[in-house]
Amino acid sequence: MDLQTLALHAGYEKDSQGTMAVPIYQTTAYEFRDVEHAANLFALKELGNIYTRLNNPTTDVFEKRFATLEGGEAALATSSGMSAIFYAFANAAEVGDNIVCAKQLYGGSLTQVAHTLKRFGIEARFFDVHNPLELEQLIDEKTKVIFFESLTNPSIDVADIEALTEIANAHNILTVVDNTVATPVLCRPFEWGADITVHSASKYTTGQGLAIGGILVERKGLNDKLKDNPLYAHFNEPDASYHGLVYTQTGLPAFTLRARLSLLRDLGAVVSPFNSWLFIQGMEHLALRMKEHSRNALMLAEFLESHPKVKKVNYPGLQSNANFKNAQKYFTDGLCSGLLSFEVASLEEAEKIVNATKLYSLVVNIGDSKSIITHPASTTHQQLSHEELIACGVPEGLIRISCGLESAKDLIDDIAQALDA
Ligand code: PLP
Repeated sequence: MDLQTLALHAGYEKDSQGTMAVPIYQTTAYEFRDVEHAANLFALKELGNIYTRLNNPTTDVFEKRFATLEGGEAALATSSGMSAIFYAFANAAEVGDNIVCAKQLYGGSLTQVAHTLKRFGIEARFFDVHNPLELEQLIDEKTKVIFFESLTNPSIDVADIEALTEIANAHNILTVVDNTVATPVLCRPFEWGADITVHSASKYTTGQGLAIGGILVERKGLNDKLKDNPLYAHFNEPDASYHGLVYTQTGLPAFTLRARLSLLRDLGAVVSPFNSWLFIQGMEHLALRMKEHSRNALMLAEFLESHPKVKKVNYPGLQSNANFKNAQKYFTDGLCSGLLSFEVASLEEAEKIVNATKLYSLVVNIGDSKSIITHPASTTHQQLSHEELIACGVPEGLIRISCGLESAKDLIDDIAQALDA
């Protein structure tokens, strides 16, 4: 079935009431039939609901539906994109290990790997996403994860997913891909060799800036890579915290199972059933929206490229863009999502343009149906010096736009008046 059809139906079987909309199971806990039933659920002899920190029927639909769209086997929803990313790392690595990450990452991911994980004894090493050789050189016997974004935020680069996963697979290491900006509609990392994807559901999944949430998806057949892999002994040895369970011997998707039974149980970054329900609503029209976001962004990028005040436009859908070839290879119909940035002459000029727009909201978010404008040098990247800004590809005159679903004409008219103000 097509993704658009699956987005409406996958993972949901109507209950005895024939409810068309997926019900919100707003509950903390579930009654067991008797003591044996309770014992069987805890021992995984029977699968079922125990407590909403571990599972919930509304969240279950969200997880199944998202896993289906991504082409994966199983998924685990979390309270935010950041917690999904953290669980992916914490499930693979432990003190003394390292993870090798692209330099071009979302700021929150960068601080998580460079600072927070360091305090947990996990080292982060960085490679240029356009330089697979650099990645290869950073791998050693303690490397547990290769991490990059398919479409990077905020630098707007497109990873050569196949080249990077080939290196990871040659070393039998897990690849984790943040597919937030591309979404399963535009990019399918599992088809290019990735093992796990992570998403901030707070962006295009709701599509209207309604809720914070995240999701981690595991590819089909990942158990074969984990089984007897000396890098991931904890998936093959008895887990003392779960009465000696060996995750790869359960016949269930082991990566997600361990993330749920161990990490979600003990760290508790659980998504609320209501937010899962909002994500389900958003997914129903995700495919339609992603086409429209991409169409608007391309038209705006083409307009900006033709404007004399604009020094450079970063959008992988433009033929002039260095990422164009990767975008054509990895993105459905070459559609490149709604994120673009452009550079004007100076900090002052950028501030003037941002302040002069009327339709765009000055917000540090992406993936909303309402268009968003940001000036990274005065907000998210304010602590960096002039030299540091240049080094991380965020010059002072850079303006980032998350293109919404307003009409392309209105979006272009508003930027045009702001540029000429
Ligand atoms: N990954 C990417 C690419 C993001 O852009 C963001 C947030 O902007 C995150 C992860 C973090 O997601 P959340 O805000 O849901 O924790």
